Amino acid sequence: MTPLALHACCGPCSLMPVASLREEGFEPTILWDNPNIQSAAEHDVRLETLLAWADDVDVPVIRCERGAGSGVSSTATLAEQRLAWERAVAPHGFERVARCRACYAIRLANACKAASELGFTHISTTLAVSPYQLFDDCSAILERTARACGLVPVTRDWRPLYPQATRESRERGMYRQNYCGCRFSAAEAAIERHERRDERKREKAARRAAAGVVAQG
Ligand code: SF4
Repeated sequence: MTPLALHACCGPCSLMPVASLREEGFEPTILWDNPNIQSAAEHDVRLETLLAWADDVDVPVIRCERGAGSGVSSTATLAEQRLAWERAVAPHGFERVARCRACYAIRLANACKAASELGFTHISTTLAVSPYQLFDDCSAILERTARACGLVPVTRDWRPLYPQATRESRERGMYRQNYCGCRFSAAEAAIERHERRDERKREKAARRAAAGVVAQG
């Protein structure tokens, strides 16, 4: 088995990558580095969900931030990472592509730095399972960042396994968030939910109107 550092964004998104990497002969250790997750309470509940599941399936989890008790010293503390995220990512606001690229870059750079310090040779990310992420951008950033740190990037397209991940995480009763992580994604997801609700209302009203016309005709 080849040890591999797996940057993970949350528990549900880790299910399929861990299973798939194990099948390939890798032995994943999860690296947690997500200063993008807002609020702090949301960050903690996602981390707790991940830790409980990882304990269940026997996957080690290491928090990348300095001072988290994991022994990683090459990265910043969580408070410093949050500040760095605000400076590098938040100014992109609702320009989603630029914002997410900057967010991947900052998280994967931290994860690669930590993986390198911990002696890993291979790295991957669970961001590659979600159809809501920018897969090509994320893979390109992983490739570039890993190689710059002397690591082998293991880029896989796990998106076809997303429905299975959704099913299994529900069956396990895992906490499942309804937005990616940052406050911008929370607002975007809320707007999309409202739009879908409005659309359903319009369709229902149209069906009623059509039925009324038929009845009168
Ligand atoms: S939507 Fe997700 S990936 Fe994009 S900036 Fe927000 S937290 Fe980061």
